[in-house]
Amino acid sequence: MADTSRKTPPAPSAAQKALHKLGLVRDIDLALHLPLRYEDETRIVPLRNARDGDTVQIEATVTSSEVQLRPRRMLKVAVDDGTGTCELTFFSFYPSHQKTLAVGARLRIRGEVKGGFWGRQMLHPQFRVAGGELPAALTPVYPTTAGLPQPYLRRAVVTALQRADLSETLPPGLDPPVGHFMGRNGLQRPCSLREALTFLHHPAPDVALATLEDHSHPAWQRLKAEELLAQQLSQQQSRRARDQLRAPVLRPSQAADGAWPLHEQLLAVLPFGLTAAQRRVGEEIAADLARSVPMHRLLQGDVGSGKTVVAALAACRAMDAGWQCALMAPTEILAEQHFTKMIGWLEPLLAASGRRVAWLVGGQKKKERAAMLALVESGEAALVVGTHAVIQEQVRFQKLALAIIDEQHRFGVAQRLELRRKLEAHGMEPHMLMMSATPIPRTLAMSYYADLDVSVIDELPPGRTPIVTKLIADSRKDEVIERIGAQVAAGRQVYWVCPLIEESEALDLSNATATHQDLSEALPGVVVGLLHSRMPAAEKKAVMALFSSGQMGVLVSTTVIEVGVDVPNASLMVIEHAERFGLSQLHQLRGRVGRGAAASACVLLYATNDSGRVGETAKERLRAMVETNDGFEIARRDLEIRGPGEFLGARQSGDALLRFADLATDTHLLEWARATAPLMLDRYPEWADRHVARWLGGRADYLKA
Ligand code: ADP
Ligand code: MG
Repeated sequence: MADTSRKTPPAPSAAQKALHKLGLVRDIDLALHLPLRYEDETRIVPLRNARDGDTVQIEATVTSSEVQLRPRRMLKVAVDDGTGTCELTFFSFYPSHQKTLAVGARLRIRGEVKGGFWGRQMLHPQFRVAGGELPAALTPVYPTTAGLPQPYLRRAVVTALQRADLSETLPPGLDPPVGHFMGRNGLQRPCSLREALTFLHHPAPDVALATLEDHSHPAWQRLKAEELLAQQLSQQQSRRARDQLRAPVLRPSQAADGAWPLHEQLLAVLPFGLTAAQRRVGEEIAADLARSVPMHRLLQGDVGSGKTVVAALAACRAMDAGWQCALMAPTEILAEQHFTKMIGWLEPLLAASGRRVAWLVGGQKKKERAAMLALVESGEAALVVGTHAVIQEQVRFQKLALAIIDEQHRFGVAQRLELRRKLEAHGMEPHMLMMSATPIPRTLAMSYYADLDVSVIDELPPGRTPIVTKLIADSRKDEVIERIGAQVAAGRQVYWVCPLIEESEALDLSNATATHQDLSEALPGVVVGLLHSRMPAAEKKAVMALFSSGQMGVLVSTTVIEVGVDVPNASLMVIEHAERFGLSQLHQLRGRVGRGAAASACVLLYATNDSGRVGETAKERLRAMVETNDGFEIARRDLEIRGPGEFLGARQSGDALLRFADLATDTHLLEWARATAPLMLDRYPEWADRHVARWLGGRADYLKA
């Protein structure tokens, strides 16, 4: 083993530290650090040809050089290259500069030309003594940071490019569809990674710069294809690894005591029939549960599409086979709501076989908690509903077969892994059903969620009246409050949401408190409640109970955290400072109304500045909410505007995000990567490993959980 204790390595220079800060550690990291833009130092341009606004390199002789003091101190230098003249101006300069810029000196000068034929000028151009070879390629300008000068970074990249292992990882015959590359000898052929990188760092001067800027050049395409392939390989690898694991086989025929299965019983007692979409996803889930490999399925459905009952029916399948099921939600209020629903639907059915629904949350009383833990451990609790508390170590399931996670993006990687370990004693993993109301656009699902199976409920239950959405300036708040009064008078209920101001929870709270007071005063005789994130759980519960039972007319809420709630009598949703929310978030909030048969509305209040205007882009963005009620369309627009981060939640580790590929434009490369990954894993597994290691290094894990 290497002995590192004796010799301390030399302290890293500031530049080396800055390199590390940018994540440029391995040679391959530097090789993949691509230029922002390029400078053309390959040519000397005659001044005669230099137009106003051009950035050019010239070689010329100094004809005069003098310091002027008015209007301020500056160095004025005139140069002539035989085809024209130019005046150089420097406001800051040292004696050494003056020496280089002395009359008679011949210089190579680079800068932006201002003015035309009669008086060309350059302000603070770069200059040095003329002569020396001209570079053959464009000069790269890299993204950098303080303490890391361009020339240092350029040298580091050149060295790294020479040293890095850029051997081919794409097997023969699996070339990406990236167009062809013009070799030195003028032959067209597919470009290799080494060629692509060498070219992008030092492109030939005759390249069409636009193709570098919009990343359509074959060299760029090649990089994007490789990156997408790495992502697909990594996820398909983890899926294959999972396929080696065992999970309980949950077959419908296995009803423990020969009684009518809970699944059928629940269907019979539901006050509604399932939609076709609910039936379809139910069958997809059933098929997974009947297999001996763990299900990892993402159930997507717009707000109000009825995911909860699908979850309950899936739970029934596990319980019918004699196993336990866990249902987890990110907040106590949501968990409580699920609990109430599950108790209502299932406890009467479970009672016959002496089984129960248990309840586990963080702030539970010791005694209650101990009782619940005992129920879980003995297996008497067939279903356990709760928050993160469900995955804690002390929670020992007798035999957990299915874990259902609502609002899955609010749970982290570690938490999902924890759940997967809950059946370790049996040498198996439970099935996982993850639910999300934020529709994930297709390309995102194909890339970031490639390791999951996806089911979509693409239909709302019948009898809903569409929600009318209105954009209203907050200067007209009074009219909105009047409307609230009318709704409450008609027996309806209203939500009022104040935005979460992340930087200042205190300010956030005071806003909501003030709003609560205003509304209470403006609406005498109406019960106005307040719900915010800092309230003790018991108090939150009490407020929600009043609202759910219809005794409270208006609920002011500070946070989007508690909005998975389901109160069908609520018919008006007011969102203050709507411009501060993402579209998908607004859509989620809006989905809290329109759950019953009554006509429902959503009012988006936007803040205006002193002149009564809101940023046009903000309003333009909000208009999408008025135009469509389709969560997928809204998600697509959100993706365009805000990028993928919003959708990824816990997967949103910056490290795991794509750096080069753009899901909006690179669909064909994504399709190629998706089709190629399995071939490569089957036929060239070592190539696949090398490819993933090169592109993802240690980051592959982020993509897998
Ligand atoms: P989400 O998908 O947003 O979680 P929920 O499961 O909360 O939606 O369902 C929204 C409402 O629709 C609930 O009140 C639920 O009981 C009701 N619901 C679900 N499925 C149907 C159906 N097939 N027909 C009528 N109402 C339904
Ligand atoms: Mg829900």
